[in-house]
Order: sequence, then C-alpha cells, then structure tokens
Amino acid sequence: MLEDVARLLEEQPLCDRCLGRLYARLGRGWSNKDRGRALKMTVIMWLHRGAAEGSVEAKRRLKVVTANAGEMGRELYKHLYGEDPGEALCSICGSKLDKAIEELAGEAVKVLRLYDARRIVVGARVSQDILEAEDRVKAGHGLKYGESIKAEIRREVGKLLRDRHGYTIDFEEPDAMVIVSFPSLAVEIQNNSLLLRGRYWKRGRMISQAYWPTPTGPKYYSIEQAAWSLLQLTGGETIVLHAAGREDVDARMLGTGRPMILEVKNPRRRYISLKELEEAANRGAPGLVEFGLTGKASRRDVQFYKEEASGKSKIYKALVLLEEPIDLERLKAAVETLKSATISQWTPRRVLHRRRNLLRRRKVLDMDCTLLHSSLAECIIKTEGGLYVKELISGDGGRTSPSLSEILGVGATCIELDVLGVEAPDIELLEERGSI
Ligand SMILES: [Zn+2]
Repeated sequence: MLEDVARLLEEQPLCDRCLGRLYARLGRGWSNKDRGRALKMTVIMWLHRGAAEGSVEAKRRLKVVTANAGEMGRELYKHLYGEDPGEALCSICGSKLDKAIEELAGEAVKVLRLYDARRIVVGARVSQDILEAEDRVKAGHGLKYGESIKAEIRREVGKLLRDRHGYTIDFEEPDAMVIVSFPSLAVEIQNNSLLLRGRYWKRGRMISQAYWPTPTGPKYYSIEQAAWSLLQLTGGETIVLHAAGREDVDARMLGTGRPMILEVKNPRRRYISLKELEEAANRGAPGLVEFGLTGKASRRDVQFYKEEASGKSKIYKALVLLEEPIDLERLKAAVETLKSATISQWTPRRVLHRRRNLLRRRKVLDMDCTLLHSSLAECIIKTEGGLYVKELISGDGGRTSPSLSEILGVGATCIELDVLGVEAPDIELLEERGSI
C-alpha cells in the first residue's frame, strides 16, 4: 500500500480528501481527510527513512512526493531543500473540495430554512471534468477500496447538516431533497408535498372533488377549492385531493365522511399542529365542506388509498320518485328481491363518455325503503364497492338488471343521493406497512 500511495503522489498532487477517498472503505469511523493525512505521513516517513539510509531512489521520490503532498509535505521539503515547494493543486478537485463541503452545507441550510424542511436527504452533482479527473487518477492503480466523489460530498454535507445544524437524514420520507453541486457550489431543493390524512364531508350538492376550471370560471365549486384555505397557513402552491373513491357531483357526502389525503404542494411551512391545519382547512367553506384531519400521510399511502377504495362497501340514502303510486308492501317485496339478486350493470350511459363500457356484477348488501308519499320513497342502501346506485333504481334503460324499476314494473328515478358511509382503507394494512 505504501508503494501504491508513493506512486500516486509521484504522478500528481492530491489533497488529503481525494487521496483518502481512494481507500475510503478501509478502516472505520474516520473521514477521508483522516485517511489521506495518515497515508501521506506514513509514506513520507517511509521514503525519508530510505533517503536517510542512503537510497538514491528514495531521495529522488521523496522530493516529488513531499512537493505533491500539500501541507503534509511542506515542512520536510523546506527543511531538506531550503525552499518552499509552492502550492501544488489537487489534480482531482483543485484543492477546493474540503472548503466546498463546508460552504455547501452553509448554503443548504439557507435554502432548507426557506422551506421548513427538517427531515432531509442530500444529493450531489459533480461536473464531468472532475469525474473524469478522478477516473484518470484511478486508472492503472487497481484501486478496489475507494468511493466516488459524489458519495463523499453527499455524506459529508449530510453529516454537517445533521451534527452541526440538527437536521435529520431520512431516506424514506424526507421533507425535501437538497442537491448540492461541485465545484459550482449551487444548491437546489426538491421540496416534497405535505400529505395530510383524514376525511371530508360535503354538506351541499353540485360540488366536485377536483378543482374544475373553465374559461368562464370553475364548472363547480370543489372540495379542493374549499381546502385552498390551507395554502395561506402552509405557504403551499396548490392542493390536490386524493380520495378513497368519489361521489357524484350532485350527491352529498354525509355520515362517516370520505377517507382522503390532502396534498399541499411545495409548502413553505410544514411543522404545524394538526389542530391548526384542520382549523385552516375548515375556514374554506364553513357549513358546506368540512375536513377532519387525523395525521400526516406518506407518499405510499396515496396510491394505497386509491387502490383500496374501490373494493370497499358504501352506504347511501336515496330519494326515489316513482312514476305511479305504489303501496309499501309492494315496495318491500321489491326490496327483498333486489337484496337476494346479483346486479348486472353495464357502465351507465351518463359516464360512458369517460369510462369504458364494462359489465360488472355487484351485490346489494342491505336495503330498506320507506314511503314518504305514495310515489316518493326514501331508501337506505348498502352496496359492494363499485355499484352505481342511481342505475340500481332506474335500470338505465335495461343496462342495469335487475333494478328497482324493473322489479316494480314502474319507472323510478333517484332524485337525491347522499353517501352516508365509506369504509376506510384498511388501517391495519397501513400499520403493517409502517406508515402510521
Ligand atoms: Zn482533492
């Protein structure tokens, strides 16, 4: 190893870090700077001994090595040759790396503060000419125990941010990734969204889930718009709602509310109490849209909510207008027939323009109807996930069968629909995934 290091330092000047990095995986608990210094001291002492014992070869090598070793060789060089060797710049980093790590950490703190990011991960970009210079130094030396300059910068900047500035390094769910560049000293940030888990209630009709802009203004008021009141508190740019399924625009969401994750994009403040966040969310559309927040969510949960939602049972309240008056007994009999049937349902005509025409089979898990008037019924219906309730009542021109209308032999229309219950995505599964 001494021979290797002597040859490396004969070929070119290397700073402590860049030399140490070539042996980064040997020893433990030291910085590459420590490694570089130890190697330089040892190899200089080794050659110095050879020179002292009369080796001409050692004498010749010592002069080059001490000149290329920077500070570590300077005193001996001056002592032996009576002059200062001058500053030989590291052939990989131009002797800038050590100071750059400090400076990059300082710049990173400034940027991270702007985004209230405390759990972070560090990324590094290194210019092509430096990467190539590193390859040139390594070439022909068969060095097996080194690491890349990128890995060193990532780790060392991360260490400074952790130990000196109190940041937590979190590879799983960081608030932000800070990307530092060498040698330009540029610092960028990829700011992750703030994800809030909870439920929403929609107490009015003609409200969509997503913001729906048109040239003449939004098509409907939306749950997302109601949540915009969070933007002021968090300094975020926009809100995206990820819900476990959706109700029709004209249906209310009452009862249990609907499980959802609110995504605040590019927030400037994120360490805010849940209570404060919930209060802010509920200032958007008081009495019309309500939010209940239960905690922070992770990126993985978003997909999970969407996947899990479709299979979950739902409870509805439907107001049904009948084309002819009927008596309660006949209605109850029809309900019993529906409860024991499997419903075959082609994609409803009203959504065919945006969904594929598919046949689905679903069950009515429970149903109960009362007559408010001889031609007006109120039905509470529990269904398997994915059953279209309006069509269960109307039959959709024969595309849903059997239907309440078909069994009664009387035209029936759902004139008002409320969702009363949406089962939450399986909380135990979420716990297993370690995201609560
Ligand atoms: Zn260097």
